[in-house]
Amino acid sequence: MAPGDKHQKKDVEAALKRAEKAGLKVTRKQNRHNWGFILCCPCDADIAVYCTPRSAGDLARDIDRFTRRHTNCA
Ligand SMILES: [Zn+2]
Repeated sequence: MAPGDKHQKKDVEAALKRAEKAGLKVTRKQNRHNWGFILCCPCDADIAVYCTPRSAGDLARDIDRFTRRHTNCA
C-alpha cells in the first residue's frame, strides 16, 4: 500500500495492516462508497472496504474475519 493511502478510520487502517501482513492484497480503488478492497489472490475472494462505514469497529472486525479465513491460502 502506498503512503498517503491510509484509511481515515484508524480501527480500519489497523485491520488493513493486519490483512497485508497476512499476505492479502489490499487495493485502494476509491469510488463513491468504497475506499478499496482486500483480495485473496489464491482463492479469488474479496471484501469491500467502505470509506465511511457506519461502524468502524464492525468493519474492522469483518476485515479481521476475512484475514483469518484466508491467512492459510497464500
Ligand atoms: Zn483465500
